[in-house]
Amino acid sequence: MERTFGKSILEIVQGDITKLPADAIANAANSRLAGGGGVDGAIHRAGGSAIMAELDVIRSRRRGCAPGSAVATTAGKLPAKWVFHAVGPVYESGEKGERDLLGSAYRACLALAEEKHVRTLSFPSISTGVYGYPVREASAIALSTVKAHLEGATCLQKVLFVLFDAGTLAAYEDALRSL
Ligand code: ADP
Repeated sequence: MERTFGKSILEIVQGDITKLPADAIANAANSRLAGGGGVDGAIHRAGGSAIMAELDVIRSRRRGCAPGSAVATTAGKLPAKWVFHAVGPVYESGEKGERDLLGSAYRACLALAEEKHVRTLSFPSISTGVYGYPVREASAIALSTVKAHLEGATCLQKVLFVLFDAGTLAAYEDALRSL
């Protein structure tokens, strides 16, 4: 399913984000940039050790990556040039700034995309796995943040959401319809 905003396409599909070519792939990382389970583990496994080697250098220069921000590395063996490691919020009550932090994590990736002149960028559903963000709310925040960006000046031609399971896909489809 896709819609056009500005001159760019926003598309959502079900699949494995490590398998689909894009200029840049966003990762749902943790603030220690230490790798982990879920999509983070899949990206490191498929991309190989070059990604962690760059994160080691980044970690030696700064203390990880705060929730709501992102850092860029090589994509190693993935079919992409870059991985943008974005840190979403851990969902607690919904009253601890989670909404702003989730929007900010997506905006940090979109800013990196502009900086690196990325034309195609793929996202997983940040924070809705282990971090527990309810997917109905998270999908609305993710898509409205990307829509707002695409309606401004951008070098992005396409933003793709790659959702791993059918339930997440259905939530994003509903959110895209009601944007
Ligand atoms: P977080 O810690 O930010 O919640 P997770 O990796 O636990 O991140 O989950 C985020 C989403 O990524 C979940 O919907 C999960 O099912 C999904 N996911 C896991 N593996 C992949 C993959 N290979 N491609 C795309 N999405 C994936």
